[in-house]
Amino acid sequence: MSSDCIFCRIIAGEVPSETVYRDDRVTAFRDIRPVAPVHILIVPNKHIASVNEAEEADEAVLGRLLLTAKRLAVQEGIAKSGYRLIINTGPHAGQEVFHLHLHLIGGQRMRHPMG
Ligand code: AMP
Repeated sequence: MSSDCIFCRIIAGEVPSETVYRDDRVTAFRDIRPVAPVHILIVPNKHIASVNEAEEADEAVLGRLLLTAKRLAVQEGIAKSGYRLIINTGPHAGQEVFHLHLHLIGGQRMRHPMG
């Protein structure tokens, strides 16, 4: 846990959030500024600043992020209509919060291309 990390503080229950899922490896909560009807952030419980800091030992938690996205897409009713999964990494991607997070976005048709 990093005390100056907003997502660590959410995981620790020190900052309120609309948590939709939690297990031993990951926590998922609704984005405070949703860009679509469904916008959930799935984060490792362990502080990993970004994909750049992920290590071999994090393989299980990285896999859990994707499987949790799949589970939540079903739960939110967007598995069939489709959804987008995004991990912003570093300045060019506009990463704002330096605690690795997977955006699960859906509930509306999205524009292409990305970038
Ligand atoms: P990124 O640009 O990928 O780093 O995205 C960070 C995301 O975190 C943004 O979509 C923010 O709206 C979201 N966010 C920041 N603070 C909070 C918070 N306290 N609760 C929920 N979402 C947040």
